[in-house]
Amino acid sequence: MPGFAVTTFGCQMNQHDSERMEEVLKSGGATSVLPDDADVVILNTCSVREKAEQKLRSEVGRWAKVKRDRPDLILVVAGCMAQQEGRKILTRMPAVDIVVGPDNIAELPELLAELRLGGPPMVRTQFDLDAPRFLTAPSIASGRPTAFITTMKGCNERCTFCVVPNTRGPERYRASAEILAEIAELVSRGVREVTLLGQTVNSYRDPLSALARAPEANPDDPDESEFAALLRAIVEHVPDLSRLRYTSPHPRHFTASLIAAHRELPQMPRHVHMPVQSGSDRVLKRMSRRHKREEYTARLARLRAAVPDVTISTDLIVGFPGETEEDFLETLSLIEEVGFVGVYGFKYSTRPNTPALRLGDDVPESEKATRLARVFEVSERLVQEHLASLVGVTLRVLIEGPSKSREENATGRSERNEIVHIEGAALDSSAKVGSEPGADALARRGEIVSVEVVEAYKHSLLGRLTAEERGRTPMLTPPKPRRMLPLLNAE
Ligand code: SF4
Repeated sequence: MPGFAVTTFGCQMNQHDSERMEEVLKSGGATSVLPDDADVVILNTCSVREKAEQKLRSEVGRWAKVKRDRPDLILVVAGCMAQQEGRKILTRMPAVDIVVGPDNIAELPELLAELRLGGPPMVRTQFDLDAPRFLTAPSIASGRPTAFITTMKGCNERCTFCVVPNTRGPERYRASAEILAEIAELVSRGVREVTLLGQTVNSYRDPLSALARAPEANPDDPDESEFAALLRAIVEHVPDLSRLRYTSPHPRHFTASLIAAHRELPQMPRHVHMPVQSGSDRVLKRMSRRHKREEYTARLARLRAAVPDVTISTDLIVGFPGETEEDFLETLSLIEEVGFVGVYGFKYSTRPNTPALRLGDDVPESEKATRLARVFEVSERLVQEHLASLVGVTLRVLIEGPSKSREENATGRSERNEIVHIEGAALDSSAKVGSEPGADALARRGEIVSVEVVEAYKHSLLGRLTAEERGRTPMLTPPKPRRMLPLLNAE
């Protein structure tokens, strides 16, 4: 049985694609192994930022050296870079054997078999425009309390800085019946929370027109979609689902029907990650974002009126061509105005085949770095203020497993997506589950518990089960005392 290893660069969409690759290869008889033991190494690439591209080059260089001693090793480049560069990758990186785009994942076993029979290096990067395929990975999701579900792929927007319309193609939607069936299957395997994935997830339209119109949907509004109808159908058809998240919405499609869904469906998160990219209308126009600052804030104001304690995070680019200090100050003021509790900020970098290339790249790198630091200075302060305001508050936390930093703790997320470490993972009501660190937290994975926040960290919270929760599920093993550093020179 060949062993394979997938290394993922980039976003959740790529992570999701990597799981589909694993599923496809496992169902063909291959086994997942550590990269150093693999016969097939797959690098699932991103091309949204320049850095990810540089990472790929160094990874391929590393594996090219390994291939000198192990010529049978097969090196596959998948993902957005594969789609974007296609055959050029084989020319520039001769160690690569297969280049496969996101829509051709299902063909991987066949391509590998051809190569093993002596076939030449291969490139398969065709969009499945006529018959879009949405692969699933139910076995990979088994045992996890959270899962991602693809609802659409591609993007019809034309943001001038973005490679996605080229690397993922135009928008194609998955039939709602398929989405409902996959979620029901995952929930039957123990999944409690799903996140619907799409480049502009809220532009969703059911290709089979099987959804009832959502309340407050305006069919005359060109920005209206069937996303709210999909959310309502999921909640109705999969009543055991506890939490229903989505990423990433486009501000244009954040319509009244979606806000009504947030207001009325208890499974909906009290957190929304909505990319804005800039606070300056002048820059938004040059980015072809198709919304103004005021439209963005007005939609959030309506959401806040419907869900008063909702939190918002965003994506931002600094140093877009032509961005002046005044434009940048508009971005800083937007961060303050909205009070984002998370900002994924990036320096603009030119990307191949994007319309922004003709705008040049006139903001010096040092200035981009300074602006990014200024963004984080403001956004980190807001995050700190938000997390500090939660000390003493009780949150409902979905336990995802042992904490990475302290395995005696469990970790999970609140309804609003704050990361919460739960002190003392010995949460089991009857007995300690195992002697391995983290065994208790693993056993309690998927439970939603009440936790009182006792401390705010830089980007997460520390909490304890509430007394009521402890009464329901008494902690048999008290939390371990914190390890103290030895006192030097103590007499
Ligand atoms: S909406 Fe804009 S930034 Fe988002 S994927 Fe589409 S083109 Fe890219």
